[in-house]
Amino acid sequence: MKNFNIAALAGDGIGPEVMREAIKVLRATEKNFGFQLNITEAPVGWAGIDAAGKALPDTTLALCQQSDSILFGSVGLPDRDPTIPKEERPERAALLRLRKEFSLFANLRPVSLPKALAHACPLAKERQGDGIDILVVRELTGGMYFGQPKKTEELGNGQQRAIDTMVYTTSEIERIAHVAFKSAQLRRKKLTSIDKANVLENGILWRETVTRIGKQYPDVTLEHMFVDNGAMQLMLKPTQFDVMLCENMFGDILSDEAAALGGSLGMLPSASLGATTGGQTFGFYEPAGGTAPDIAGKNLANPIAQILSSALLLRHSFGLHDAAAAIEKAVTQAIHDGNRTGDIFNPLDPTAKKIGTSQMGDAVAAAV
Ligand code: NAD
Repeated sequence: MKNFNIAALAGDGIGPEVMREAIKVLRATEKNFGFQLNITEAPVGWAGIDAAGKALPDTTLALCQQSDSILFGSVGLPDRDPTIPKEERPERAALLRLRKEFSLFANLRPVSLPKALAHACPLAKERQGDGIDILVVRELTGGMYFGQPKKTEELGNGQQRAIDTMVYTTSEIERIAHVAFKSAQLRRKKLTSIDKANVLENGILWRETVTRIGKQYPDVTLEHMFVDNGAMQLMLKPTQFDVMLCENMFGDILSDEAAALGGSLGMLPSASLGATTGGQTFGFYEPAGGTAPDIAGKNLANPIAQILSSALLLRHSFGLHDAAAAIEKAVTQAIHDGNRTGDIFNPLDPTAKKIGTSQMGDAVAAAV
């Protein structure tokens, strides 16, 4: 039987509540698909500070290093101890540290809006077609956020000059393009590559490189789109997109724009992928939202983002495609059956019943 090691770091706020439901669903999936998951839980964030004096305790980091992948909740409680220095606060000391530690270069943000949740989407129903289903693949370690030089200079006379540099190498583009094409092969086989090739040197190299890599994936239809048009098309006709491939900054912006179409932060998973060795990809999987302190501990949070993050983990780290698809189908089924946490509840829908975090987990696990 195949055997995989997962570090489960629930973190703060709603983290432990939604993680419990994701593990419940993983256990149901494990039973049906004949693999074994060794899931080890460890504290992170304020939970790490409380347990071991550090947002990322040494034992938690060691567990992550020994694991095949990380299922993460979320960290940070804005009202806790404002005197702690920035670099020791959970968002930096745990989250950014882990992303760096595992060289996570590809960020995957799927946005899917089932028809039953049309009311939760800010776009008119006519623009939603048969449901929105987009995967934004964002390059995470290059581009403007990291390029050198990066500095602010004094020019005299009270003037300053701030410099950020957008840099990409061919191999960085090739690496993320492969992730995007492979992801498209698992979906509807269409890839829209986003760039600004009409203005930026980076855009020209991006377009040339993606086109060349695309020849290795003849079953995927490739199109190119300028980023300004991409932002507009997401609002006008989101159903035209399957996979959108973006460099770091464009992906940061467009993935949030696309996220707004999903109706609720509680529905949106994400994956950050690192190196692939021996057929397994190290990945970090987390909900797109944060710790939601306003609803924490009340059985109100929507666990679907965390549950769908665990489906991404099975697919992208372990290649367990059938099991991942079963979880995604089970989520759609649970929603189809009228199960709604508060964030996606529509009082005008007579088929909808308002339920809590654990009941949503039960519904999805039962559907698996
Ligand atoms: P948030 O995402 O926690 O909450 C924003 C709004 O969305 C709130 O109204 C919340 O109730 C709602 N929401 C979020 N997830 C939900 C869910 N699963 N079900 C139902 N509703 C949900 O953002 P925030 O309030 O700006 O941040 C709170 C804390 O979380 C901060 O300390 C922030 O730094 C941290 N944070 C952490 C991560 C992370 O760990 N990756 C990401 C974002 C924010």
